[in-house]
Amino acid sequence: MLDDKDRIFTNLYGRHDWRLEGARQRGDWDGTRELVLKGRDWIIDQMKASGLRGRGGAGFPTGLKWSFMPKSSPDGRPSYLVVNADESEPGTCKDRDILRHDPHKLIEGCLLAGVAMGASAGYIYVRGEFYNEAQRLQAAVDEAYAAGLVGKNACGSGYDFELYVHRGAGAYICGEETALLESLEGNKGQPRLKPPFPAACGLYGCPTTVNNVETIAVAPTILRRGGAWFAGIGRPNNTGTKVFCVSGHVERPCNVEESMGIPLRELIEKHCGGVRGGWDNLLAVIPGGSSVPVLPKSICDEVLMDFDSLREVRSGLGTAAVIVMDKSTDIIKAIARLSRFYKHESCGQCTPCREGTGWMWRVMERMVKGQAELEEIDMLLDVSQEIEGHTICALGDAAAWPVQGLIRHFRPVMEQRIMAYRATLQGRSAPARA
Ligand code: SF4
Repeated sequence: MLDDKDRIFTNLYGRHDWRLEGARQRGDWDGTRELVLKGRDWIIDQMKASGLRGRGGAGFPTGLKWSFMPKSSPDGRPSYLVVNADESEPGTCKDRDILRHDPHKLIEGCLLAGVAMGASAGYIYVRGEFYNEAQRLQAAVDEAYAAGLVGKNACGSGYDFELYVHRGAGAYICGEETALLESLEGNKGQPRLKPPFPAACGLYGCPTTVNNVETIAVAPTILRRGGAWFAGIGRPNNTGTKVFCVSGHVERPCNVEESMGIPLRELIEKHCGGVRGGWDNLLAVIPGGSSVPVLPKSICDEVLMDFDSLREVRSGLGTAAVIVMDKSTDIIKAIARLSRFYKHESCGQCTPCREGTGWMWRVMERMVKGQAELEEIDMLLDVSQEIEGHTICALGDAAAWPVQGLIRHFRPVMEQRIMAYRATLQGRSAPARA
């Protein structure tokens, strides 16, 4: 369990003042000028030493990602930092609470990340539905400008860094980094083909790095306490702290910052009051937002909550949104609901996703009622595998994996549903007995 002294988000529950004065009392903006003056290479080295991996879901090493940005721009193009605050993954509400209660951690992180990548400006792209959060973030940015912390000669360091808050319009796909850039440019939010990657050609055709809110918000504390401190928490290659969002059939759903690699069972029992009706009443968990395969209780008993452990059991940490389902859950219906979500959110640009998500959803709706043939389970698996890896962006994979997880772990439940429906039909058509 994470020691209190290692907690980064000291106002995750909004019990203290989110404004600049309160943030300063909690240690934010302390010695920022000196951190800026240490320069790009020092910041990147510390981030690499911390082992921080992106908190938006992909888990790419942050220091390495920042190092891809050009050191100078021979053709005069500026570089940009873009923060992805378009948090829309089902079950995920961690960035929302950082925006609400700890906005200055994010703003300070933007400045330091901007220095590391030589960016002249940062854009924070906030999910359209987060109206209040965007208002609060803007108020905090205004405070930072008024105090000389960002803008011209930020923190008195001689470094100029402008920061803008931009509200999206409520499309899930705009959480995909290149769709986000399209949207920020004023275009329809559709993912771009990669390469070119944003570090070479991103916002307005300029070098750009897109990072998640949590990734940027932890950077100032890492730089103040040192990369080695962060690397000492968690497990090798899965270091540091992480904000987990636990929802569903637990006694007390919550957001909580914990060490990477905490056992799933410990996370649920220590922070959420346990599974409703006790651990034995657990049916399944989706451990990382809706875009990763569901896990049955037998795996949940032992699994650790980090990138590598969850990959070993053919799932993923994703956004670390833990969706808990007890035995009252109709697991086929739950996954069918996700299929509907992905069908609705597909941007329609590529055929396997546009057609495949709709096809999977329609078959899943029949599976819920058992109105399918047994062979269709394998056909569903085949279709999901045809979508996986054959699309422009990861939404296709995200739609395929929950269905694959269902078939991998709950095939007997699907078969029983089909057999039960058949039995009902046979019962109806059987001749009436005297
Ligand atoms: Fe659009 Fe889906 Fe293709 Fe992504 S995978 S670009 S969401 S159609």
